Formats: sequence, C-alpha cells, structure tokens
Amino acid sequence: MSTPAALDVEHDVSLRAFNTFGLPATARTLVHIRSDADVRRLLAHPQHGRADKLVLGGGSNLILSRDPQAVVLRVEVMGRRLVADRDDAFVVEVGAGENWHEVVGWTLDQGWPGLENLALIPGTVGAAPVQNIGAYGLELKDRFESLDAVDLVTGRTVTLDARACGFAYRDSVFKRGGFGGLAGKSLITRVRLALPRPWVPVLGYLDLERKIAETGNRTPDARTIFDWVCTIRRAKLPDPAEIGNCGSFFKNPVVSAEQCRDIIGRDPEIVHYPLPDGSVKLAAGWLIDACGWKGKSVGRAGVYERQALVLVNRGGASGAEVVTLARAIQESVYGRFGIRLEPEPVIV
Ligand SMILES: Cc1cc2nc3c(=O)[nH]c(=O)nc-3n(C[C@H](O)[C@H](O)[C@H](O)COP(=O)(O)OP(=O)(O)OC[C@H]3O[C@@H](n4cnc5c(N)ncnc54)[C@H](O)[C@@H]3O)c2cc1C
Repeated sequence: MSTPAALDVEHDVSLRAFNTFGLPATARTLVHIRSDADVRRLLAHPQHGRADKLVLGGGSNLILSRDPQAVVLRVEVMGRRLVADRDDAFVVEVGAGENWHEVVGWTLDQGWPGLENLALIPGTVGAAPVQNIGAYGLELKDRFESLDAVDLVTGRTVTLDARACGFAYRDSVFKRGGFGGLAGKSLITRVRLALPRPWVPVLGYLDLERKIAETGNRTPDARTIFDWVCTIRRAKLPDPAEIGNCGSFFKNPVVSAEQCRDIIGRDPEIVHYPLPDGSVKLAAGWLIDACGWKGKSVGRAGVYERQALVLVNRGGASGAEVVTLARAIQESVYGRFGIRLEPEPVIV
C-alpha cells in the first residue's frame, strides 16, 4: 500500500520574489499546492487546517501591505491537455499553476488560436478567471468553458461554468466577498478554455488597427497578432523583472452618459469610450494624469512616467507606501472629477 504524499510546508518564507511589485512580506506558513488532494490534506492538518488562507498565484495582481497572517497557499497545479475536439471549439484543460503567457504560446504552437490578444499578461492560469483578465478587445470569459475549484472549508471539488463564475469587467465571483462571493473561499485547480472554430481575429482595438495601418497587413494570422500584442505591451508597460509593478492599478470607471457630458463640459479632452448600454467608460490613466500624478512619487512608490495608470516600485518600496500613494491619487481624482477610482489588484 502506498503512503499518501506529505504536505509540502515551509515556514518564514520571504514573499518578495513571489510578487511582481517586489514588496517585502514574510509568510509565516507557506504550503505548496500541487493537486486537489493537497488542499484536502491541508484542511485535515491539525494546526493549519482551520487557519485563514491566502491563495497565491504569480503575485502579479496582489499588493502585500503587510505580512499575511493567513497560511499562504502557493498554487502549483500543472498540466495541459486537449479534452475535446468539437465542431465549434478545441477545448483545452490547463492546471492553475501554469504560466498564462506560456500557455497562450503553447495553444498557438498546437494550432489552436484564440488567446493571442491576451499574450504577455503575467501570472498563472488559475488567477485568470479571478479578475476575468482582459486586453486588446478580448476577455477571458470570451474563451472560457469551465473550471474546477476546491472549497477551502469542505475540501470538495466543484466544476463551475461561466454563469456560476459571474464574470464582469475585471471581476468575478472569486473577487467578491460576502454572501454568494467566493473570494478566499475556494482555490481554482484547473481551467478549461474553448478556442473557437473557425478562428476569427479580434482586431477592433485601436492599437491593433494602428498596427494594420502601419504594416499594411489587413489579414494577420494569430501568430502575427500575438507578436503585435507583445510588441505593443513591451513599449507601454514596465517589465516587472526590471521595475516592480502590478500592471494597471485602477479599473477604468464607468459613469452615466449625463455624468460624462458634465465632465466633458469641463474637460473636453477626456478619453472616454461609450458602452452599448449607454454608460461611458473613462480612461483612469487620463484622470490620474490630469491631476498631475504622472512621474510623481510618495516615498519609494511612484507613478510610471509613461503611463499614469501604472504604479511602480522605485526601489525598496513597502506595501504601505504603495497603499498611501494609491489613496492620495484616489483623493485627488475624487476632488477634481467626483469619481471614485477602484483598485484593480487585491490588497492584502
Ligand atoms: C506588467 C503587468 C501587466 C498586466 N496586464 C494585465 C492586463 O492586460 N489585463 C489584466 O486583466 N490583468 C493584467 N495584469 C494583472 C495580472 O497579470 C492578472 O490579474 C493575473 O491574472 C494575476 O495572476 P497571478 O497568478 O499573478 O495572481 P495573484 O496576483 O497571485 O492573485 C490575484 C488574486 O487571485 C487570487 N488567486 C490566484 N490564484 C488563484 C487560484 N488558483 N484560485 C483562487 N484564487 C486565486 C489571489 O488570492 C488574489 O486574490 C498585469 C499585471 C502586470 C504586472
């Protein structure tokens, strides 16, 4: 009879290398999760089973404002396979610990296009549904089939479809607390993605339209779109390996048409996008820039010189400094425009 694998537990682990902002924090207890069974083993553990838990992927959408008191669960569930070859889609199942960008490249290598607009987004596959990652005119929900998640109290694995995940703009049931929310209550172990057949390129985003005009290539294949997206992103966003950051720090606020007209009356240049339901999405980066924040710092946390929506670590910043800077930006945007900016990363 084989003995069950032991839980892989470490103590007093620095999390600096495990978050892309490079913030200092120490996990008193960190557990490596490589399977659903590992979660169940943890829940049965006499010391850690009932403790609060913090799920950690690649740490690219997380602000560690202090040492987490919770047991940190590092998701390392691996595996990639084709699970269905349907007329309307190739369905692939991917372990939550796999690197998102590598998986995008892998699907293209296999001849299953559809994820190319989401290239170069840092982090793990398991975190992609948490905020319904999106970029260049595509969101995860557009390619989502289902996922498996383990309940962090009962240890039961459940399969959820898109409806149960409650996807919205940079949001899902996994980001929401309270009644009905699953934030902190479950750990995603596998995600299934449906890559549509026939493949239709998504080219409506302004930066991609510019690439078409620049290159004269009106019918790019998926690999070309992947390359374009990587080039555009590298020019716009700081590489976390060089400058600590977590991408866009605030969500783009959505306001009513009336509120938008009012703002345009005062600031005609405001960057805004009308939405199908009549509301209007405002560019948060524009609002922050208009308040004079671009390039500014509070302590060792700063606003990126080339994109005001990105906060950066100027070297040795603490999570508290980042939170102080974010609050100061929120206050000045509220003071000038009457709009409350909502952070995109999860602040712990
Ligand atoms: C340079 C840069 C660019 C970015 N660009 C984009 C972009 O274009 N679009 C976009 O949407 N995002 C973007 N992001 C944000 C980030 O990459 C995504 O949100 C990503 O999905 C986070 O993955 P992660 O594994 O690092 O998650 P983490 O930061 O580790 O975790 C984020 C949240 O998800 C939870 N979580 C993580 N894994 C699981 C799991 N398996 N089960 C349950 N909960 C889990 C965590 O508890 C936490 O609440 C960018 C970030 C950076 C640094």
